[in-house]
Amino acid sequence: MKIAIIGAGAAGMTTAYLLNKKHEITIFEKQPILGGNIRTLNKNVTGVNLDSNLVLDNGVIEFQQDHFPNFHKLMNALNVKMVQGKTSSELFFADGRCYKSGAGIIHHCKGMKERVMEIWKTLPVLRGYLLFLLAAFKAKPEQLRNQPMSVYLNGEIYAVWLKMLLMYAYSMPYQKIADFPAEIAIPLLRHSSMFTKWDSVQGGVYTYIEKILEQFDGKIHRDTNIQMIRRTETGVVITMANSDNLLFDKVVFAVTPEQVLKLLGDANDDEKRRFGAWQENQIETVIHTDISFYKHFGVSYYSEFDVFQTDTHEHYGYNAYLNRLYGIDSNKYPHYSLAYNLNQRVNPDKIIHRQHHNTPLYSVAAIRYRDEVIATNGENNTYHAGAYLGEGLHEGAISSAFAISELLAK
Ligand SMILES: Cc1cc2nc3c(=O)[nH]c(=O)nc-3n(C[C@H](O)[C@H](O)[C@H](O)COP(=O)(O)OP(=O)(O)OC[C@H]3O[C@@H](n4cnc5c(N)ncnc54)[C@H](O)[C@@H]3O)c2cc1C
Repeated sequence: MKIAIIGAGAAGMTTAYLLNKKHEITIFEKQPILGGNIRTLNKNVTGVNLDSNLVLDNGVIEFQQDHFPNFHKLMNALNVKMVQGKTSSELFFADGRCYKSGAGIIHHCKGMKERVMEIWKTLPVLRGYLLFLLAAFKAKPEQLRNQPMSVYLNGEIYAVWLKMLLMYAYSMPYQKIADFPAEIAIPLLRHSSMFTKWDSVQGGVYTYIEKILEQFDGKIHRDTNIQMIRRTETGVVITMANSDNLLFDKVVFAVTPEQVLKLLGDANDDEKRRFGAWQENQIETVIHTDISFYKHFGVSYYSEFDVFQTDTHEHYGYNAYLNRLYGIDSNKYPHYSLAYNLNQRVNPDKIIHRQHHNTPLYSVAAIRYRDEVIATNGENNTYHAGAYLGEGLHEGAISSAFAISELLAK
């Protein structure tokens, strides 16, 4: 069969890899680069002011060791090496208060006395967190449906931390986390304890896309401008901006969900309902070499996931310290970090790269018909893949690709 895959992010590229030997695949990507939110500097992102010996991820970066089975299955099949991280985290409030995660206490406290003091300070946070976990584990899937996270997270410190984790995981503005769907967030938070282990990819995340490309026999159109996609009785017509009509047997939408109706020229009422509430979420992340803002808190170590309240107390942002994650020698190279929404703290002169990302804006209304999208995959010769059809992270993107490749292999 001739299959068109629209979108070359994790879901699109994995679908292409899985169907490559069985079908004639053509990938359409609107960006000049492949990978979607995978942005590995000195790999798919070039022309960066970064030593050519280094690779740094300015997008997708970490993967849960124990809860990403399909992702790890894919990495094994592609022979991609993973690096086991000792990810820790710290929460910094504008008034100078700071709280370490369990792993932070283990790795960054000097001596038993400091550890005991830190645990004592964290006890009230821990109490709220344990109560939250109890409620989260008790909640049945049907109770989570149509519920926003504001039902589960209040204004306590543990809740700020968990909201920050969601902001980090889904690249959503902190203020929007209140309306984040519990159906996606609670399963993630259940298995994201303070001790959860996260892996990174040796050589940067784009390494696995390179491995896919080595084996891929199909066509890839980058920088494409699709005007419209229509379905016929027997297949699919893709009309390009130059009015060329390209014919396929099936189409896989591996784009973010708010793009689907923009592309479909003949969306039926069901499709309009399933995709109508999705909106776009545009964000910017930066790679920088400024660690001076840690001094304000009297801290001389940096974690892989530190969260900061802004001085105006209204917003939060994160800083992911990269040298430890990538084994970069800090005596030889600067201290590199990936930051989001830390404009107030990071010195603009120390920013070496900026990346813009597009992600789905998760809301209770948007994911209401997610199960229906999955259940109707194949209708009208049309399939959908993407992280948003799972837990919103890489495992979701890869699992959705596995699911539709099984359907298309039949
Ligand atoms: C800054 C950032 C950090 C992240 N970090 C992590 C992390 O550490 N771990 C993790 O598990 N997840 C992380 N994520 C979530 C990440 O988005 C998912 O893990 C996953 O990469 C999403 O893959 P996808 O294929 O579903 O979507 P995308 O990566 O968004 O891919 C969709 C593709 O479709 C293309 N497209 C859109 N419209 C069109 C069109 N009209 N025509 C052709 N192509 C089109 C886009 O250009 C894009 O390439 C992060 C996200 C961001 C933004």
